[in-house]
Amino acid sequence: MYDVVIVGAGASGIMCASVLKIRNSNLKVLLLEKNNKLGKKLSVTGNGRCNLGNVNTIVSNFNSSGDIKRFEKELCSRNYVDYLEQIGIILKNEEGRLYPYSNQAICVCKSFERYLEHLNVKIKYNYEVNCVKKENDLFIINNEIKTNNVVIATGGKSYPKTGSTGFGYEVLRNFNHKIEKLYPSLTSLKTDYRYIKDIFGVRFSGLVSLIVDGIIKRKENGQVQFTKDSLSGICIFNLSRNVKKYLEEEKKVEIIIDLVPEYSSEYLKKYLSSFYDYKIEDALSGIINNKLATVITKELKLNGKLIKDLTKEQISDVSLKVHNLKLNVISVGDFEVSQVTSGGASLEDFSDELESLKCKGLYAIGEVLDIDGICGGYNLAWAFSSAIIVAKKITM
Ligand SMILES: Cc1cc2nc3c(=O)[nH]c(=O)nc-3n(C[C@H](O)[C@H](O)[C@H](O)COP(=O)(O)OP(=O)(O)OC[C@H]3O[C@@H](n4cnc5c(N)ncnc54)[C@H](O)[C@@H]3O)c2cc1C
Repeated sequence: MYDVVIVGAGASGIMCASVLKIRNSNLKVLLLEKNNKLGKKLSVTGNGRCNLGNVNTIVSNFNSSGDIKRFEKELCSRNYVDYLEQIGIILKNEEGRLYPYSNQAICVCKSFERYLEHLNVKIKYNYEVNCVKKENDLFIINNEIKTNNVVIATGGKSYPKTGSTGFGYEVLRNFNHKIEKLYPSLTSLKTDYRYIKDIFGVRFSGLVSLIVDGIIKRKENGQVQFTKDSLSGICIFNLSRNVKKYLEEEKKVEIIIDLVPEYSSEYLKKYLSSFYDYKIEDALSGIINNKLATVITKELKLNGKLIKDLTKEQISDVSLKVHNLKLNVISVGDFEVSQVTSGGASLEDFSDELESLKCKGLYAIGEVLDIDGICGGYNLAWAFSSAIIVAKKITM
């Protein structure tokens, strides 16, 4: 018989178990994990470096259909930084993003593993939970484990190869929780742009806008990368939220890229005109990637032409295109490749301490809830902060 059983030893589950035992060493805490080790997803985050949080955490960096403001205090106080340091994970700040000083996600997992052992938290690996029910005030897991409190920390549906296959939604649904529709987020955008193969492998920084039915939804400044059929990179990931939903609603979704946001159209026209005896793509290559330069001239059917043979209007068209390269979006990277799941267990069914309003003693933390953040450490910040909220409540 346990005081608390946590289902899932991912980022939120291991933080919750640690804080519970730090605050009350007498608690009997059990962590159940279907993988043979903890933090399988955590170990691949941040390109293996683990972007653990962000010093600029504000609620507008998160999305939800519910009221995120209720959790603002914990999120913005960044108590998780103190707990991580207590666990032995020293952080460094890179332009606001928090990384482990070791620079290695696997060191973060190792530190949690050692600390949980030190705290005497029992972990059952290779243990898949398939049933959670409540009988006479006690929760019974897989018809064998009894506990007073259950914390669902099973993650979302993204990157299922790390263990997060969406089981938590099923459990919560069985306890009459509403699940907001799930979408892959922080993912690539697939395009039918006719020249995409010509710019495969190109990386550059620009100002990128998401346009839905002709209206600008959001703008992001940053790195973009072209693959053989898609756009990728941090700013594309940040624009990807809701794109699947818009496409399902048969809305027209486009990406418009300003390849040289620092230079005005006037400057660009003057720059091009000064190389009057150059081919247009050669002159453009002085300011943008040569593959992009070729594609732009192809789009305008000006490839191979000398600048001196162009009309003023044609030079204006080139400048306009460099500031507004438009690509149609036809689909998004699915759950297999998306970094996070948007949607999930509705916040309206939980108290401010993330206890279920449908069933006393049932809690949920991390990505299973309907909160997702943009790139920059915000999703782990939420996983850790939600874990602390619940651990504080249970040990109150
Ligand atoms: C490639 C990639 C890179 C990322 N990089 C970053 C980053 O740098 N910074 C950032 O903030 N966020 C990042 N994220 C997002 C972040 O990793 C997640 O939001 C976060 O891990 C969610 O934590 P969680 O505890 O809710 O779920 P998870 O970390 O997914 O953990 C859930 C755990 O529950 C276990 N489980 C599930 N079902 C069962 C079951 N039935 N029985 C037993 N166990 C079960 C799973 O095996 C898993 O171990 C990244 C995500 C990906 C995919």
